Amino acid sequence: WEVKPESVSLYPLGTAAAPEQELLCIFGTGDFGRSLGQRLLHSGYRVVYGSRRPHSCGPLPQGAQAMSHEAAAQLASLVFLCIHREHYDFLETLTPQLQGKVLVDVSNNPKKNLYPEANAECLQRLIPGAHVVKAFNTLSAWALQNGPSDANRQVYLCGNGAEAKQAVAEVATKLGFAALDKGSLSAAKELEDFPLQLFPEWRMPLYVAVGLTALIFVYVVIRDVVYAFVEQGKDNSFRIMVSLANKVFPIVSLIMLSLCYLPGVIAGFIQLYRGTKYRRFPDWLDRWMLCRKQLGLIALGFAFLHMVYTLIIPIRYYVRFRLSANTISQIRENRTSVFDTTTAWRTDSYYSIGILGFSLFLLLGITSLPSVSNALSWREFSFIQSKLGYLTVFFCTLHTYLYGWSGFLRPYKWYMPPAYMLSLVLPSVLIVLKLLLLLPCVDRSLTRIRQGWERTDMQDGSEKPLLT
Ligand code: NAP
Repeated sequence: WEVKPESVSLYPLGTAAAPEQELLCIFGTGDFGRSLGQRLLHSGYRVVYGSRRPHSCGPLPQGAQAMSHEAAAQLASLVFLCIHREHYDFLETLTPQLQGKVLVDVSNNPKKNLYPEANAECLQRLIPGAHVVKAFNTLSAWALQNGPSDANRQVYLCGNGAEAKQAVAEVATKLGFAALDKGSLSAAKELEDFPLQLFPEWRMPLYVAVGLTALIFVYVVIRDVVYAFVEQGKDNSFRIMVSLANKVFPIVSLIMLSLCYLPGVIAGFIQLYRGTKYRRFPDWLDRWMLCRKQLGLIALGFAFLHMVYTLIIPIRYYVRFRLSANTISQIRENRTSVFDTTTAWRTDSYYSIGILGFSLFLLLGITSLPSVSNALSWREFSFIQSKLGYLTVFFCTLHTYLYGWSGFLRPYKWYMPPAYMLSLVLPSVLIVLKLLLLLPCVDRSLTRIRQGWERTDMQDGSEKPLLT
């Protein structure tokens, strides 16, 4: 009987020597240490805790043992440090026991820039002979206890030793998480700042939305309410709740939609001017481009409000009153207003183009959701977000022009043009700039630049570029 070298020897059931479970060490029996220990035990590891008070450290996950830091560190090659950074100093006394071990730093700080160096870098400085890996800090004790879920699956890690990172990544994978390597230990600060972020990419778009809403609201109140009160002695203040709100929402929406597409066009002109794509855009443009999705989604929110406010127009008391008053006055004066085909065309076109614009806008919003965009090829995604995006801007702008119709020629109240006219400036400029970029000669040059071509007059090295 010849045993093939690649064959696996099978023991009869029950007699197989079960592979010994790996033993991992956790320093700290607090919330995070206990949740991590419980998850490690559920995933088939053995766990030993290093604690200041091994005999009175409270209830531990079933199956775990607690001992002194020295004894626990000696038993495992991988040690999770589930203690706060301000208590790291005592680790120096354990240098001999931690020599050559993988130390996983899970710590976070209560606020940004509290210390000059990252916690993990500080730890590496304290114990130079250990392999420090920053990991698991972006998960909460609660998430660890409940196990990975779709929304909470990633474990970011960084460190200087490839083998140490590999060991931590294996543990993370075994716990059911997806390990994502963020590079060397110098990335630790970024990982430590991550849990302290508060919607960073939404901040600027939200400021823009609030600022624009406030500005336009004040403008329409002055123009529609204050003017009527001062010049005609009429109290129009009731219009604030629906009529004026329904003026502010579409205006903010259209401006923000244009702001979403404007940086792309500006970037195109900058690349044409520089004759290369290999130079960084100015910082402000970079930041602007990074929040285009948020600008677009907020714009969609305002467009949605506009749609809902428009749907309630027929049930408004003010509108029903005006309609019946008009009918009664026609009966009294024995006159019939003539059907105006031009007005019918205008209003129908205005509504129809608005509906088309809003439908495309919705499509843009839906395809920007990660679950949908991940299912699209890059070409499909850019077709929808770019081509259909500009078509949306065009429809929404046309919708506003149709709304204005002959109103553009009417005299202004207090030299203030109607607010919708102001909202047309940015999208009109955007459309003109985009059309310029679409001119065949311009489009050809820009396409070549985006494929890597560089203008030859960029002679000296200083003009050469950083890859963006
Ligand atoms: P915790 O509940 O306060 O536990 C900290 C543990 O550190 C204590 O239970 C204690 O364990 C040990 N400790 C306290 N003072 C010490 C000292 N002077 N010297 C040595 N050890 C000391 O904190 P935690 O919430 O578990 O957080 C632990 C670490 O995980 C922190 O760095 C935190 O930033 C990080 N983290 C926590 C979460 C979370 O959701 N809680 C999420 C991400 C990261 P012994 O009594 O057994 O010695």
